[in-house]
Amino acid sequence: MKTNPTLFHITNKYSAVLVDNYGVLRTATAPFPRAYKALRELQDQGKEVFIFSNTASHLPEQLCSELAAQGVKTDEKHVITAGSALSIALEELGLKGKPLICVGNQATEEYVKRAGGILVESLEAEAAILGHHVEEYNLRNYSLAWKLCKEGRKPALLVNTDKMIPIDTSSQSSGPGYIGKQFEEQTGITPIGIGKPFFYMYQLAFQRLNGLPKNRILAIGDTLETDILGASNAGIDSLLVLSGLHAWELGYVPPWIDPSFPNEKRALEDYLVLSGLRTMIVRGSKLDLFMRERKLYPTYTLPQLQ
Ligand SMILES: [Mg+2]
Repeated sequence: MKTNPTLFHITNKYSAVLVDNYGVLRTATAPFPRAYKALRELQDQGKEVFIFSNTASHLPEQLCSELAAQGVKTDEKHVITAGSALSIALEELGLKGKPLICVGNQATEEYVKRAGGILVESLEAEAAILGHHVEEYNLRNYSLAWKLCKEGRKPALLVNTDKMIPIDTSSQSSGPGYIGKQFEEQTGITPIGIGKPFFYMYQLAFQRLNGLPKNRILAIGDTLETDILGASNAGIDSLLVLSGLHAWELGYVPPWIDPSFPNEKRALEDYLVLSGLRTMIVRGSKLDLFMRERKLYPTYTLPQLQ
């Protein structure tokens, strides 16, 4: 099957594409083969394709292997994560070379080291790095971080800001961003966000794109509050796909998961009217109300990346 001509139309005027991982290319449990195929086709068309993920628990080389297993060749330069944006954040916040407590898994710790932080497990730390998902979190370091911030009034950095993650297309679970919320309630310190929608990852992308004009860069993501808000704040266009986090709220199921579910037809007929290269959302439709409620509009919307 050829790439959706609508995707071609949309991506035509851009030279670089920043593609979110979870919800766009896969859920936590299943890869989306057509999305990976679309990614290969974008690369074949000469686009500079970056994986642009809020993760702090997987290193760029791990994501490269995950992509290779789906037939997509890329290198670490083309993988930008919230973890890799820590290098910019530590520099800007004056924390490079400083002792830091890390609440995360091994990959989070590696990110802190690569960014020039010094890992400590004591209250000498200058800041706490909150990186990872609950199931692997280091409770000892969490309580040290808690004490450091609550009593020592030191800053905390929240690397992965995702509050929810898609498990599959009909369920989701709380994401690492919840650590930040919980931490704030417990310590009174509002963590500094590193991942999308904050600027650090975009700054890293702009650096790696060597001054490519912003109107040549498109961000693709499944979440209004991170991918679309972040792109809008960074001054670049965005494409929202409905295969991820918002799928269950809007009743979408990608066709490779349930071919009998008439998403595309319904999405195009009920929700979207393509007008030139802009996607107009039908006023009063479920999608329109959903976006209006959040006061966030992407430049384009498609049922899924394919
Ligand atoms: Mg996502």
